[in-house]
Amino acid sequence: MIVVLETGIAEKQIEDIIRVLHDHGFDVHRSTGVQHTVLGAIGVHPEFDHRQIQLMAGVSEVVRVTESFKLTSRAFKREGSVFDIGGIKIGGTEIVVMAGPCSVENEDQVFKIAQHVKESGAKILRGGAFKPRTSPYAFQGLGEDGLKLLRAAADAHGLKVITEVMDKSQIDIGEKYSDILQIGARNMQNYMFLRDLGKASKPVMLKRGQSATIDEWLMSAEYILAGGNHQVILCERGIRTFENSTRNTMDISAIPVVKKKSHLPIVADPSHGVGIRDKVIPMARAAIAAGADGILVEVHHDPDHALSDGAQSLYPDQFAQMMKEVRIIAQAIERSIP
Ligand code: PEP
Ligand code: MN
Repeated sequence: MIVVLETGIAEKQIEDIIRVLHDHGFDVHRSTGVQHTVLGAIGVHPEFDHRQIQLMAGVSEVVRVTESFKLTSRAFKREGSVFDIGGIKIGGTEIVVMAGPCSVENEDQVFKIAQHVKESGAKILRGGAFKPRTSPYAFQGLGEDGLKLLRAAADAHGLKVITEVMDKSQIDIGEKYSDILQIGARNMQNYMFLRDLGKASKPVMLKRGQSATIDEWLMSAEYILAGGNHQVILCERGIRTFENSTRNTMDISAIPVVKKKSHLPIVADPSHGVGIRDKVIPMARAAIAAGADGILVEVHHDPDHALSDGAQSLYPDQFAQMMKEVRIIAQAIERSIP
């Protein structure tokens, strides 16, 4: 149930309403918006007569949310969420570009790539130190040593860091070295882990599962929000379909669908979305045109020798070209890429 409060309502009245909801056994999440304060009352009470709340002083509207995702939904928060990551805003009019290698491989590699992506306008450096590989014999990442290199390369070039954590045991270390925790497609339905991420203090970027519907994906985001961490960014990274001309099928339509259903920012990952270098730039352009709040893209200075995902990694000059093109598209839809 979503309780929309009257504009200008006194803090004391808000506290009274929250207390009544608690007395009825609801878990209450508060969202203080520019125009309205909204309370999300969570709890399974199918027989609850919501008119009891509707009639309270200061309540403007009570909406019963039929979807299973509630805190994630636009009904809970009408304005899009904007998260401030050390001065970089995700979800506002500016579009954020996150770029870097699939995996952190060594010092020279990550410093070189950080310099290239910074020069072309990326704000956040990506790179995996814990890699979810299909084969247990493939390169698994450098672990903490990789995180140290990633942080150092980012700091040297004034970039923020996003990196993947795969398990509860990696959350603390991920938070120590990075600004955003990336949750991989393979973990989107790892519900125990999602609950753990609800206790994390850093923003989380939740990738869409390879075979997940949009509603299932939003439900997974709901686990993190319900756990107390409201800073969730969604990431469309391609889904499995019958089409085999590309590694995955990049679901561009997910972007406007999510925008309508949810207030959370959404980023697009055209690298995993198509898996083939020469299709990455067109998909990045399409994602921006469709309303993505950011792009996550793999870049490597020597992709032929990359330890993972070389075939989908852009050369630095291609990344520079992509930035030029997406800046024009952003302008056309009254956004910008600073
Ligand atoms: C990655 O970003 O390198 C990655 C492993 O992504 P995904 O979880 O989307 O496969
Ligand atoms: Mn990758």
